[in-house]
Amino acid sequence: MTDTPTQLFIGGAWLDAVDGATMPVDDPATGEILCDIADAGPQDARLAEEAAVQAQQEWARTAPRARSEILRRAYEIILERTDELAHLMTAEMGKPLAEARGEVAYAAEFFRWFSEEAVRIDGGAGVLPDGRNRMLLSRRPVGPCLLITPWNFPLAMGTRKIGPAIAAGCTMILKPAPQTPLSSLALAAILKEAGLPDGVLNVVTTSRAGEVCEPLLRGGRIRKLSFTGSTAVGRLLLAQSAEAVVRTSMELGGNAPFIVFEDADLDKAVDGAMVAKMRNMGEACTAANRFFLHHSVAEEFGRRLAERMGALVVGPGTRDGVEVGPLIDRTGRGKVEALVADAVERGARVLVGGRTQEGPGCFYPPTVLTDVSPESRLMDTEIFGPVAAILTFDDEDEVIRRANDTPWGLVGYVFTEGLDRALRVSERLEVGMVGLNTGLVSNPAAPFGGVKQSGLGREGGRVGIDEFLEYQYLAVPVR
Ligand code: NAP
Repeated sequence: MTDTPTQLFIGGAWLDAVDGATMPVDDPATGEILCDIADAGPQDARLAEEAAVQAQQEWARTAPRARSEILRRAYEIILERTDELAHLMTAEMGKPLAEARGEVAYAAEFFRWFSEEAVRIDGGAGVLPDGRNRMLLSRRPVGPCLLITPWNFPLAMGTRKIGPAIAAGCTMILKPAPQTPLSSLALAAILKEAGLPDGVLNVVTTSRAGEVCEPLLRGGRIRKLSFTGSTAVGRLLLAQSAEAVVRTSMELGGNAPFIVFEDADLDKAVDGAMVAKMRNMGEACTAANRFFLHHSVAEEFGRRLAERMGALVVGPGTRDGVEVGPLIDRTGRGKVEALVADAVERGARVLVGGRTQEGPGCFYPPTVLTDVSPESRLMDTEIFGPVAAILTFDDEDEVIRRANDTPWGLVGYVFTEGLDRALRVSERLEVGMVGLNTGLVSNPAAPFGGVKQSGLGREGGRVGIDEFLEYQYLAVPVR
């Protein structure tokens, strides 16, 4: 912790907030304060904006190879420091060290991927239909960006945005979540060490997100917002972005269905459920929220899932052997408790878990509920905790209708051994991503994102960089 930066990163310098404000960062496993960091206000945001705007023109002219090599160096430094970064992430966010190490590798991969994409930004040329005019197409960085990230993947949500922005030649202000700012500050230090010019990345940590971000979005100098977080906040930021017609990418909430048909391989389904539900303690936008089981396999699946969930070791993420860390804070845990209580009141049976653990820290035990009523609040609320809620269905049309009966459409999981059914059901699900006989879809080389109120645009994959580029078309008459 001693070497971790705790100040704002603006124009390549580490600065206190102009008004000297600070805020604490705490450890969700103990409730203890880890350190105090700078708490930016609107004046600091203006400084960061100025730095990003000033750096934009020159950065846009940098050779793609130079941008690529900065990302590549940063990728290598991140991997060299896996252990250090994993400990930092576990301290501020709570996830077990093994998962934190996994996130470091996942986060670094976005830099490697976009270091490879930086040198493949294409353009085009063509003859227009009249046969006389020519067109030349080039691609330009969209301009200074505001990147806003949540707390659940403190490093990867940053690299998934910073990577393509650097590759495209954009400058940026990153505003990380106040619960997990340390990973972002460590990342800024790594990028500086990797040779990123001053002002290209600015990091503004704050407890006053609205006051800091709204003037940036309305001011007309920030040209792009890339946001990951809840649908409610995304909607508000879309409205704020409308005034200055800021281009937006939105990675919002989910309400993933996890569908197990009667012809599924139950070993695969239970393994998949453990990942889709328990990755990140259930605090993931991709987390399976509604388990739809064909009635013929529901009991067996519930029993096996409860056995696996009940055997998981819960405790502070730094302790050896721990598989489930604390939830992010008391508010997050309170929400999970209320959703479980509501489901039980409406008739759900608790197969395992369901009771808050005593003691310090925000722990909640892995929980399996069965006979869940479709009226339960957790059917249309992201649980964001280690709770699997099982419902049953009778036929394919019915389960597709119920799975789609939600405003969200990020991801769905389908378990069946029938190829026809696998393709048919996947195509009918209103989601941006489908895990077919698997509980994990996230991969830097694949386009991540949702439909409906789960978002706009995609991150990662070949298209991830497009979100940070604009076309310029040159009309050239040839006489
Ligand atoms: P959140 O409350 O929406 O916050 C996300 C970020 O937005 C935080 O940095 C937050 O800072 C900031 N924010 C909140 N109000 C703001 C405002 N008025 N102006 C500017 N920034 C503002 O979400 P969260 O609880 O951190 O994260 C969980 C949510 O993220 C879930 O819904 C999850 O599904 C979603 N998520 C989606 C993806 C995806 O790729 N689709 C990935 C991960 C997470 P403050 O906390 O200071 O308000």
